[in-house]
Amino acid sequence: MLSPVYTCAMGNYTTANTVEEFRQHLAGVHARIAAACAKVGRDPSSVRLLPVSKTVPEARIRNAHAAGCRTLGENKVQEAHGKWQAMSDLPDLRWAIIGHLQTNKAKLVAEFASEFQALDSLRVAEALDKRLQTLGRSLDVLVQVNTSNEESKFGLPPSELEAFVKKLPVFSSLHVRGLMTLALFSDDAAKVRPCFVRLRELRGRLRQSAPDGVVMDELSMGMSGDYELAIEEGSTIVRVGQAIFGARKVPDNVYWPTSDEQA
Ligand SMILES: *Cc1c(COP(=O)(O)O)cnc(C)c1O
Repeated sequence: MLSPVYTCAMGNYTTANTVEEFRQHLAGVHARIAAACAKVGRDPSSVRLLPVSKTVPEARIRNAHAAGCRTLGENKVQEAHGKWQAMSDLPDLRWAIIGHLQTNKAKLVAEFASEFQALDSLRVAEALDKRLQTLGRSLDVLVQVNTSNEESKFGLPPSELEAFVKKLPVFSSLHVRGLMTLALFSDDAAKVRPCFVRLRELRGRLRQSAPDGVVMDELSMGMSGDYELAIEEGSTIVRVGQAIFGARKVPDNVYWPTSDEQA
């Protein structure tokens, strides 16, 4: 059975518009992060909150920035790039790309992103590295893993992970920091939790075999509906959109293929 805390974390997200509303929502999420950490004896400072601002227009993002948001997660490269350009007057605002990337958009990411959390192919790694070398930039990256065993999900299958990671050190402008996953979409904690456990176990195994220069510290897992569970299972980065910005009208299948489409 679901505990009430997870039930009310699903849906019912109120919209934040003003700086004050953003402060309240951020404080609420930080309080829940702290409570989830307390439950399993973790230090709340070991969990980074990454606010996800996809679909949110510039004026509200500026208020989120004024309320303290300094790095924002975006799924689509073009949307993120446009926002980066529009808000270049905010030099301390950084952008994390958390969605699947096509090789032909690597150029854009190399230009402005400070981190890329969805690396899942050598072609993309190569395209990013080439561009970053030219620009004299580097990028923190996480390798995305498909932990839910759904055909439709982006990310590497766990069985390919070790061989993939061994090939990454040649891309010297990519700084590998850990792993990222999207859990199964379900309000049943018994189905979601195993995805998070799997990612933590994979990190443990990779720590034994990872080549020099590859750091396996970060576990980016947990979203508005499941970040407390993810923290219980060791998440170091939670990617939270709706619980901070408010409910999104755009359906999730715009951002990643959902299993509904397979049916
Ligand atoms: C949109 C998105 C999130 C945040 O989802 P919310 O339900 O808004 O918290 C997290 N991760 C990825 C990859 C996303 O695209």
